Amino acid sequence: MPNVRNDLAPGTRPDLGTMELAELEAALEARGHPRFHARQIFSWIYAKGVTDFDKMTDLSRTLRADLADHFRISTPAVVAKDISTDGTVKFLLALEDNRHIESVFIPDTPSQTFCISTQVGCAMKCGFCLTGKMGLVRNLTAGEIAGQVRVLAGELGLRQSKFNIVLMGMGEPLHNYDNTMKALRMLNEEHGLAISPKRITLSTVGVLPALDRLATEPLMPNLAISLHATTEDQRDALVPVNRKYGLEDILAAARRFPVRRRNRITFEYVLLAGVNDTPEDARRLVRLLGNIRCKVNLIPLNEAAGITYQRPSDDRVNTFARILANAGLTVSVRKSRGRDIRAACGQLIVEGTTKSTGQRAAALL
Ligand code: SAH
Repeated sequence: MPNVRNDLAPGTRPDLGTMELAELEAALEARGHPRFHARQIFSWIYAKGVTDFDKMTDLSRTLRADLADHFRISTPAVVAKDISTDGTVKFLLALEDNRHIESVFIPDTPSQTFCISTQVGCAMKCGFCLTGKMGLVRNLTAGEIAGQVRVLAGELGLRQSKFNIVLMGMGEPLHNYDNTMKALRMLNEEHGLAISPKRITLSTVGVLPALDRLATEPLMPNLAISLHATTEDQRDALVPVNRKYGLEDILAAARRFPVRRRNRITFEYVLLAGVNDTPEDARRLVRLLGNIRCKVNLIPLNEAAGITYQRPSDDRVNTFARILANAGLTVSVRKSRGRDIRAACGQLIVEGTTKSTGQRAAALL
């Protein structure tokens, strides 16, 4: 076997942690090893949480040594863990390039939920979201997306349990399409964590071409669309990408989206006091969603320094919800979890050591 890559520094060795099964098989084959070992390695990394080649005891010593010489398995490192009074845990994770991201564990929803990031920062710049203030720093790799799940499952002792995943952390998943879909395939791998796409919800502002592409995926997660407004003008102001992919077009894409049987699209709607929370807004929302198999998740704004909008009163939220419910829509009001540790929706922002211009600007707010 040629040993041509023995001189690779550890950090430049190919990362098995960001490969899906077929890639891992090909990487083994290229080094003259049988492909079936890829399944064993997948099981070590994902099902058992072992990334030290030397501990992969069902592989021969020679194979383990060769793997250690030529590959690495990178895993996001836990830098800090904040625990909310309601049991929510916010993890600050460091990536190999020392960028930071946040992932959140939300217990008892009634199931256990992991809220996972898909980008460092976000390019969408929604007016009420702190992550948007950072701007986009970079996409996460598939390994970094799936790696968050590995880390949280290990840290929380939930590797053998069932949990849900929401792609509602930092970033816009459809703006990092290929890596997000690859991460879903890695998480779905039967020798690994074997997470069904039915347990995964992808939340998006509605990047239209990517939304239509999602409609053709064999491994399809549940879909949540961040609507937040009932007129084009209103949405242009709150969700700037609406100027490119408008409300009407997104609703048309939702109508043709192949929703699984007994399933529905979720429309998320952030309630901002005096902006989009009037009874007229609620009635317009009913008209817009009338012929779509969907449910509505109302999210009263989580306020934060630097965000100029305000959270409406509970009365106002209830009135809005009642109009939807009376019109026959299924509606829920998202309970804000982990607000005391800034882990709630739209509050994820990283003030790390390696700040981008966007991050520095955000930190000044
Ligand atoms: N980029 C994706 C996922 C991001 S966050 C998306 O936009 O859907 C998940 C949800 O939290 C989105 O609906 C987002 O609009 C909402 N959100 C963002 N900031 C918020 C805030 N300050 N308060 C409440 N919800 C917020």
